[in-house]
Amino acid sequence: MLDKVLIANRGEIALRILRACKELGIKTVAVHSTADRNLKHVLLADESICIGGASATESYLNIPRIIAAAEVTNSVAIHPGYGFLSENAAFADAVEKSGFIFIGPKAETINLMGDKVSAINAMKKAGVPCVPGSDGPLTDDAERNKSIAKRIGYPIIVKAAGGGGGRGMRVVRSEEELITAIETTQAEAGAAFGNATVYMEKFLENPRHVEIQVLADGQGNAIHLGERDCSMQRRHQKVVEEAPAPGVSEQMRNKIGDRCRKACIEIGYRGAGTFEFLYENGEFYFIEMNTRIQVEHPVSEMITGVDLIKEQLRIAAGQPLSIDQSQVQIRGHAIECRINAEDPDTFIPSPGLIDMFHSPGGLGVRWESHIYAGYAVPPYYDSMIGKLITYGDSRDEAIARMRHALDELVIDGIKTNIPLQRRIMADENFSAGGTNIHYLEKKLGMS
Ligand code: ADP
Repeated sequence: MLDKVLIANRGEIALRILRACKELGIKTVAVHSTADRNLKHVLLADESICIGGASATESYLNIPRIIAAAEVTNSVAIHPGYGFLSENAAFADAVEKSGFIFIGPKAETINLMGDKVSAINAMKKAGVPCVPGSDGPLTDDAERNKSIAKRIGYPIIVKAAGGGGGRGMRVVRSEEELITAIETTQAEAGAAFGNATVYMEKFLENPRHVEIQVLADGQGNAIHLGERDCSMQRRHQKVVEEAPAPGVSEQMRNKIGDRCRKACIEIGYRGAGTFEFLYENGEFYFIEMNTRIQVEHPVSEMITGVDLIKEQLRIAAGQPLSIDQSQVQIRGHAIECRINAEDPDTFIPSPGLIDMFHSPGGLGVRWESHIYAGYAVPPYYDSMIGKLITYGDSRDEAIARMRHALDELVIDGIKTNIPLQRRIMADENFSAGGTNIHYLEKKLGMS
């Protein structure tokens, strides 16, 4: 096993990684900004180092300082968590070149998947179904672009190859709008991502977001852990996630999961990863791969019993996967509500001192969070302060547990989105299952 792991992240995921390390007997190093001295995992880690100022560029995004911290603490591996440097190929490369293990895939895999055009091409080659599209970058040839769009059929969506976070995309409904839309997206993509390459895809009107969790050891073994439905979104940000996805049969799961599993083997994937799909009329269409652990990983853990972070650590230590596909059994249903420090109506972040806190509990209730009474949520980072996960034998039982768990959860002193989550859990259409990616915004009167 690894001797000592440096956790290059903060908040709930840093605590989650710390707990997994402790269970495996791995020593831990917390790195933190000046604003994060009182983070729970910093207080619990074997060692901690302040690596810079509150702004993420000075700390959690500062590659030389993180590597220097690994050097002075004699860490052997670095876990990037999600966000920050987790999908930064230059970071993965710098970590390995400095003699440490990067807990994730190889830098070249991150690069391959970080460019959506190369990712789609690799997936197509591996037999993963993709959205019908331009099969490569668009050129400046207006006639060629028009004929590609005509072949795909309107509406289409122009997307930046280097895009992320739901930015760098434009829907086009007719040929008149096409050329301007391509030029505008190119200009925006160049400014925002330093890469003006754009491509075209069929725009699916009412899809759901369904994603497949995979684990691969980079030694020729890969498994899938079923799917998650993350369709409840606002501005492309996930709000509620669940597993399994309502209406996806075992046969469909095995078919798409097997394709993902084989794609992992084909590209030499190593670590935990997620294949994101749009799902419409019973068909899966690949949109991108995330080469890291995701926020919503706990719902897959609940229905499979597999600890994804421990598996990441084992894979990084060079061990082969501890289970094969036949040992992955999906049982019951799990739901996750993201708890954000924000106004439930305006969504404006609400940092500040938490003066009272009560966590929910009971059978099938899991609370993943670093907050405590007396903790001040800093204004510098993402507003997510915790994740409430419930598990039940059935989807109805998981929802019933989520309703009472949300009632038990008390966070006072700051505003949170708990009232919004209660509304979603009381919603008839959510209860019925299978709402699409536009549902929440429509419910909120945003579109
Ligand atoms: P990002 O990396 O910015 O998250 P994605 O490619 O994952 O970009 O797309 C983000 C979201 O944009 C999707 O979840 C979906 O809501 C919408 N989207 C992307 N491609 C399409 C498409 N072809 N048809 C319809 N919606 C799309």
